[in-house]
Amino acid sequence: MSTNHHEHKHHLKIDDEWKIVRAIVGNFVHCTRHPFAVDESPTSIIHNDREDVVFLAPFLPLHLNHILAVCEEGKIRYFGPFTPFAWLKTVEIVTLPPYAFCCPGFIDLHHHAPQYAYAGTATDRLLTGPGGWLEEYAFPAERSLRDNPEQTRHLFQKVVQATLQRGTTSVVYFGTLDVVPCQQLVDAVLQYGQRAWVGKVCMDRNAPADYCQPTQQNLTETQQLVQYIYETAGKRSTSPRLPLVFPLITPRFIPTCTPELLSALGDYARSEDLHITTHISESIDEVQWSQALEGGAEDATILHQHGLLTRQSILAHGVWLSDTAAQLLRETQSAIAHCPLSNFFFANQSLPCRKLLEQGNLVGLGTDIAGGYNPSMLSACRCAVIASRTLDHQRQSLTNQHEQSSSASSTLLDYRHAFYMATLGGAYALNMQNHLGNFEIGKDFDAVVLTVQSNIFVCPRRDTMADIFQKLCNLADDRNVSHVFVAGKQVIGSS
Ligand SMILES: [Zn+2]
Repeated sequence: MSTNHHEHKHHLKIDDEWKIVRAIVGNFVHCTRHPFAVDESPTSIIHNDREDVVFLAPFLPLHLNHILAVCEEGKIRYFGPFTPFAWLKTVEIVTLPPYAFCCPGFIDLHHHAPQYAYAGTATDRLLTGPGGWLEEYAFPAERSLRDNPEQTRHLFQKVVQATLQRGTTSVVYFGTLDVVPCQQLVDAVLQYGQRAWVGKVCMDRNAPADYCQPTQQNLTETQQLVQYIYETAGKRSTSPRLPLVFPLITPRFIPTCTPELLSALGDYARSEDLHITTHISESIDEVQWSQALEGGAEDATILHQHGLLTRQSILAHGVWLSDTAAQLLRETQSAIAHCPLSNFFFANQSLPCRKLLEQGNLVGLGTDIAGGYNPSMLSACRCAVIASRTLDHQRQSLTNQHEQSSSASSTLLDYRHAFYMATLGGAYALNMQNHLGNFEIGKDFDAVVLTVQSNIFVCPRRDTMADIFQKLCNLADDRNVSHVFVAGKQVIGSS
């Protein structure tokens, strides 16, 4: 957002043009672009000549004492330095405390809602095989929702509340194999006013006999869920407002989906212009299983053959993508959902996230509930930073062993890169960058306010505002989430 843009907007009588209903006054932080979009060092904090904007990095301005106005449709209509506009008298004003920052709402690109029931357990299992994660935990937990509508409703309400309370405004949710629990998940999302992509999990092979469907039934129930979402949340092409819930084509992963099913899902996604999600090249055992079934082909190649790599595809993990596969994802503009906590347990390695971002791959963050046990996107941010440091340690130890200077470039990410992936990076991954991810005029106002509470120590004479924001990034939890807004509506916190 340029300064000119602000000055231009100053002179607009925005109350004549839009019905402003709410204004937020305080400090704002958001990413204005990709961290590696141009050759600039993101390491130093730049103070520009305006005292009310501090750049934490060239892509990450911190706006002090600003005002943001939201119209009736939930969109941002003004964002600039605080000015006592006449129309402020007629709207609801949310004035933030001095040590609070309004940030774009977090976007969780990978979440298995039914698995929230056992999040925090099963961390001692392998992903696949007898007694493994899928067979012992994931499949039974998902299947159990089939016969317990009350329990399912309660669980999904808790899922949506837990994510909203942590500032996650958009989530890409895997449902279950059965369509009815998926419809209940849609209901819970709409009840609490979150934004979500909800998919019926598809499986027609290598799944337990009582948790597997014939190929055609997978397709029929997927279409049923898509229709249900259009009926309850509206259809994007015909709604004046951006719907809160979007349909999602969701083959679980290649080992549980026949080529016929993958092709049918790819065709349907194309015909309806739908988002797609699945797992890709997650772990050594998953990669070996896929290759044994598909004549040695890589996951990315197989998905591409079936029309499942599109600009609206979100692929979880990608830890073991080859360079060719990563290139295929760039060419198709398919995104990666980086789930660092889950990767520590199941993937045998960390994603070379910085390299992928520098190469131009679209990468956002996911919690992967319950492969990752923590529903907080701030936790996912911290894990992404730690994962990047483990890769750096590996690089250093290899360099020492071979006694040669490493020519490998940096693997390191810091809290600012992670903040990008949790916000604007997630919006780009979903191809929603024109609607979500930062505070540009015209976007939907999806936001979280992070506020210093007694769990974070602030030393006023020592800490700059940049320090306080970094403390929140590293130390905040749900106690520090004072307000959450989705499409301009306050969904968490008292106004
Ligand atoms: Zn997953």
